[in-house]
Amino acid sequence: MHAETKSIHFPTRRSNGSIAPPIELSTTFEHGPAGEHLHGFEYIRDNNPNVSDLESRLAAIEGADGAVAFASGMAAGAALLSRLSPGARVLFHEDLYFDFRKLADRILPNWGLECESVDLTDATARSRAFAKSVDLVWFETPSNPSIDVLDIETICREARDANADVLVDGTFATPVVQRPLDLGANYVLHSLTKYMGGHSDVQGGAIAFKGDASIADALKEKRRLTGGVLSPFNAWLISRGIQTLYCRMDRHCANARLVAEALDGSSGITRVRYPYLPSHPSYDIARKQMLSGGAMISIELEGGKEAAIRVAASVKLFVNATSLGGVESLIEHRASVEGPESTTPPGLLRLSIGLENPDDLIEDLKSALAAA
Ligand SMILES: *Cc1c(COP(=O)(O)O)cnc(C)c1O
Repeated sequence: MHAETKSIHFPTRRSNGSIAPPIELSTTFEHGPAGEHLHGFEYIRDNNPNVSDLESRLAAIEGADGAVAFASGMAAGAALLSRLSPGARVLFHEDLYFDFRKLADRILPNWGLECESVDLTDATARSRAFAKSVDLVWFETPSNPSIDVLDIETICREARDANADVLVDGTFATPVVQRPLDLGANYVLHSLTKYMGGHSDVQGGAIAFKGDASIADALKEKRRLTGGVLSPFNAWLISRGIQTLYCRMDRHCANARLVAEALDGSSGITRVRYPYLPSHPSYDIARKQMLSGGAMISIELEGGKEAAIRVAASVKLFVNATSLGGVESLIEHRASVEGPESTTPPGLLRLSIGLENPDDLIEDLKSALAAA
């Protein structure tokens, strides 16, 4: 069965013949007099039918052996990192989701983890980093917000030789565009808050993995003991979002490609960062591992920070807001939002391309560029 079919039909849990699955709000489930499980569920912090439905659906579309869902992408990532023992060394790609960078700077050292920021697009930098022992390699591809594209297959091969695991944060690509587990990754992280939910109205996160059930058990234990549990309603909303994910991604990606091509070479813009533009430094890798260019674009303005903020102030259809992956197009000056610790180029604007008519999006950006 194809993944798009699974995204709609899997799993099918019907009550009274209902086509839409019910939402199970119960915090507790009947057990036997000696605590025997009667229905597979016990207490909401351990598990819940809507959360398990979502996990099965995610594993099915990702081609994973299992998936564990959390209250947010951050909770999912933190649960995985908390499995490492003190002394473990983690390599992060230098362009990293800003809150994971803060986690690596402020919290992971307290757990005894040694975190190193490396340009993982650079083979020499990688071989230098792999010269010392490495436990986990962690990168986004495409990365947030610089849209770096990293060679999943090559990095996984090098990591395997070094006895390290690999986590790919696939939030920007979704399983529709890219399947890191098929290319050798051990884990895929998704912020379900983005394309999976798809409507800017629900938060969640997940780790999908290759390996035996002990991985799911360990992640679920972390979830239970640290409490980053997804609510049944949020799980239900995200499962519903996934049913239209394939359809939405087609349109998101087609729109984004048109917008990227229209902006490429425009006056006032020094660089359009989009994986499926031949000018992208990793264009060949993007063509090899991504079915399309995704729907996130970053542009760099010739006039730097001031020009970028003027463009962000001049758009009428794009909304200035953080996050991504919803039906509506968003624009954001990341350096301003990230604050003084930001390493994002000051002239960079990040665009999340929505499902509007692409001509309207292009016209909005072109007039904002002309006005700025
Ligand atoms: C948003 C995001 C996260 C964090 O997810 P939350 O659901 O906000 O906790 C992690 N990685 C990437 C690439 C993201 O865009």
